[in-house]
Amino acid sequence: LIRVSGVQKYFGDHQVLHDIDLDVRAGEVVVLLGPSGSGKTTLCRCVNRLETIEGGTITVNGAPLPEEGRALARLRADVGMVFQSFNLFAHKSVLDNVTLGPMKVRGTARAEAEERARALLERVGLAGKASARPAQLSGGQQQRVAIARALAMEPKALLFDEPTSALDPEMINEVLDVMVSLADEGMTMLVVTHEMGFARRAADRVVFMDGGRIVESAPPEEFFGDPRTDRAKGFLSKVL
Ligand code: ATP
Repeated sequence: LIRVSGVQKYFGDHQVLHDIDLDVRAGEVVVLLGPSGSGKTTLCRCVNRLETIEGGTITVNGAPLPEEGRALARLRADVGMVFQSFNLFAHKSVLDNVTLGPMKVRGTARAEAEERARALLERVGLAGKASARPAQLSGGQQQRVAIARALAMEPKALLFDEPTSALDPEMINEVLDVMVSLADEGMTMLVVTHEMGFARRAADRVVFMDGGRIVESAPPEEFFGDPRTDRAKGFLSKVL
């Protein structure tokens, strides 16, 4: 579904992605792990064209990423993204946050968008919060709204960029539980996270990055049980 081949990314003179190859198949959950600064977030953002690339190709369903306009908006609906800092529309209600995208990008009628939004809010445990503003919600609740908003687009895949890093510890699980249930239902997911428990539980494959390169790619039992490289061993000895 998502195919990254030979991708090179620079910020100025600094190369942050070196020759990245990564395929995410339909229904697969891939977790990107690695030390801070290894390029995980940047890779995730490139897939949604929030960053441009200087070499290589990225395709979604076989088509190269569109550069702008409605096609790009549709790409970002098809491949939704959940950010570390939620990025909700602060001045809109929770319901509007979830309905605006489908109405604008998919052309969904308001009544239908609202009906679906209410079902999605119920699914993420926020049925009673439709008319609240984001600021009235906890971080964990805001992140669950952000997930409902991405799901409202009926995406083919979802990207998660450290979705629990900004949350207080007691709110992390309420977000991870929603993500695990999506994974169980067969959603295609590319997830940057430091939550090793999530990687073990939900990942089909762990991709370990260091220094802007993919160093290992293996099922979680293999990666955690028997990492092949010293870099992965060193990383795991610090985080586990
Ligand atoms: P973390 O876990 O800390 O978020 P990461 O693995 O996601 O780390 P990235 O955020 O992708 O790493 O960063 C990779 C490298 O790119 C780092 O050296 C970072 O300083 C640099 N970088 C990221 N964004 C920018 C930017 N907008 N401008 C310049 N350099 C950047």
